[in-house]
Amino acid sequence: MPKIDTEPKLDFEQVLIRPKRSELNSRSEVDLTRSISFKKSGSTWTGVPIIAANMSSTGTFEVCKELSKHKIITALHKFYTLEDYKKNSSELNPDFYMVSTGISSADFSNMCEIVDTMNPKWICIDIANGYIASFLEFCKKVRSRYPKHIIVAGNVATREMVETLIIEGGVDVVKVGIGPGSVCTTRKKTGVGMPQLSCVIECADAAHGAGGFIVSDGGITCPGDLSKAFGGGADFVMMGGTFAGHHETPGEVVTVKQPDGKDKKFKLFYGMSSEHAMVKFYGKKNDYRSSEGKVVQIPYKGPINDTVLDYLGGLRSTCTYIGAKSIKHMSKCTTFVMVSRQLNQIYG
Ligand code: 5GP
Repeated sequence: MPKIDTEPKLDFEQVLIRPKRSELNSRSEVDLTRSISFKKSGSTWTGVPIIAANMSSTGTFEVCKELSKHKIITALHKFYTLEDYKKNSSELNPDFYMVSTGISSADFSNMCEIVDTMNPKWICIDIANGYIASFLEFCKKVRSRYPKHIIVAGNVATREMVETLIIEGGVDVVKVGIGPGSVCTTRKKTGVGMPQLSCVIECADAAHGAGGFIVSDGGITCPGDLSKAFGGGADFVMMGGTFAGHHETPGEVVTVKQPDGKDKKFKLFYGMSSEHAMVKFYGKKNDYRSSEGKVVQIPYKGPINDTVLDYLGGLRSTCTYIGAKSIKHMSKCTTFVMVSRQLNQIYG
């Protein structure tokens, strides 16, 4: 008989963060950097715990160059080769980039070639469905070959798999989120998913209990969502759509005439499981796979720096509303209230 979990599960839009008395008088008193010691790898890291997604439209060297200035990490996409890394090596700070890999043997050899030469700090093992048995085996294999690298792996969305990946897989940071992404169609195509805020709360509790950490991956639509993810216990937050559509991201700017006669600029953004991505990177989409990603034209946003400042400013402001002097303290200082309406949309 199918089971039903009747406990409410929430998304970012169903809550707000309750303000409380704060000793902080200014946003400038908030420190957005975090220092973390990872138990599995024995490594340490200091930076702003935000990650640009390892999608081909955001996980690029150009984006990395800009985001490193703010101590933000970029998960470089898995289609880069060692040659690409060598060409860009002068601009790479090991604290602020991750080498990404899938779990095929071709992915593994490409990743090993890069890691053995570049000696990065971070490795990101990424597949859409982190519940398949070969994923856990792959994590173990990477851990035994690279005992000191910080390993991020996902995606999963439940307590048991977070614990398994940390305890058995030797993973430092589990990437959580099934279906919340802006260009993701997994929930529509499969009916599978977990509301992201509840996913973060459950998985953070599991990871912290097992001596690991989590990245909340996907579903950030505004700076407030970023604060809610940290408030829910995320150690890191990964964003794709937020960083897409800028001057520094790949692709042409296209100008489209609007019904009112005005020109509007757009850039293409697509999911990594979309048919567009499969054809671009593998030459075809196999019939046994369905496309689980969208292709969208998003409004051109100009320099990525402006978006970063907007998001970091929002985070600092949240911290002053709840009395958190750093991101690390946000979850302790957060009380969520369930709401039926988050925003007043009268003017859009
Ligand atoms: P966003 O920040 O745009 O809401 O979400 C970014 C995340 O969406 C990525 O880090 C990745 O986990 C997920 N994602 C990217 N492409 C696809 C796709 O084609 N299908 C699905 N299901 N998820 C995707």
